[in-house]
Amino acid sequence: MLPEIPILMEQYRALLEILPEQHPEYPNMLTYYRRQEAGRKGEDSLCYYLEQAQVPSLHLLNGLRLEHPSSFQLDWLVLGLGFRAIFEVKSHTGEIYFDAKSHQLTRTIAGVTEGFDDPLLQVDRQYAKMRTFLSDHVIYQLPTYRFVVFVNRNVILRLHDYPEYKRVLTAQQVPSILEALAEQHPPVISEEANQAIAHFLVNNHRERMASILEKHHILWDDLIKGVPCPNCSRRSMNRTRMRWQCEYCDTRSTDAHLPVLYYLALLTGNQLTKRLVQSFLQIESGEATRKLITRAGYVKFGVKKGVYYSHPYILAATKNESGHKSQKSGHKTIESGHKIYKSGHEI
Ligand SMILES: [Zn+2]
Repeated sequence: MLPEIPILMEQYRALLEILPEQHPEYPNMLTYYRRQEAGRKGEDSLCYYLEQAQVPSLHLLNGLRLEHPSSFQLDWLVLGLGFRAIFEVKSHTGEIYFDAKSHQLTRTIAGVTEGFDDPLLQVDRQYAKMRTFLSDHVIYQLPTYRFVVFVNRNVILRLHDYPEYKRVLTAQQVPSILEALAEQHPPVISEEANQAIAHFLVNNHRERMASILEKHHILWDDLIKGVPCPNCSRRSMNRTRMRWQCEYCDTRSTDAHLPVLYYLALLTGNQLTKRLVQSFLQIESGEATRKLITRAGYVKFGVKKGVYYSHPYILAATKNESGHKSQKSGHKTIESGHKIYKSGHEI
């Protein structure tokens, strides 16, 4: 399953919800989150151009992440009947220049020049891993083209000395590139086979989940406890007669704890313990806490002191589902005939 929003991004969003703004790491976390958001936005913006390509039976996969032989993630993978293409998306602005002498790409913005890794090397490495993945799973190989796409309109590419300048594109070039490739490579596999391959890849998608608290040296005790009011956002609601009650605005709620449970699931690597939940919901009864977790649909694992609970959606996104039946069925085909696997849905 490809989740609607990358789990890693959801983790940072969850952290920002319960990390006090005065915390020394708060500005850093905000920067992390915004950077991911910008990357995601860049990938989204390429979708429009991919859809413009007048090529029948394309499957478009956004953010596919596989863990074999080692993990790798593709911003966009296009599966055609006679060819495939990988697009690495860059959202840089400013002037991108290739220095033929140093063999380095540099970016200049507001008079400041910085070097960055050659994105084509990056996409070529991803391709090498994908090739291994496909051959280990006995999936038919097709000629696979690798591109880097600069999606920001405010970018100026000065790459005439770059040996592979033809593989560095602006978003506007993408539809005609795909059309040219389709013309060059007539269908080799059937539509059914292509669809089966797309499903197989999506079912093998493994979302990345990081221990972000550990990574940034943030303690559980640093985080804000209590259930915020869904109406006035103030903390903490009181639990009385099986409901949450806000003492400021008198709002009553039966499910105000759900966002808190979800934040905790994201921050614990999807392993909620009753004790942790109890301390964050600030309720006295352990048994009441357990009921709130299970009624919220969390899945129980382990026994006795090793019991933990997992959110089913995060579980589906992070666990290998190969061997299971595909969760999705019944595709909606869009006008161009492409099937897009983005945000967890085929649209
Ligand atoms: Zn309130």
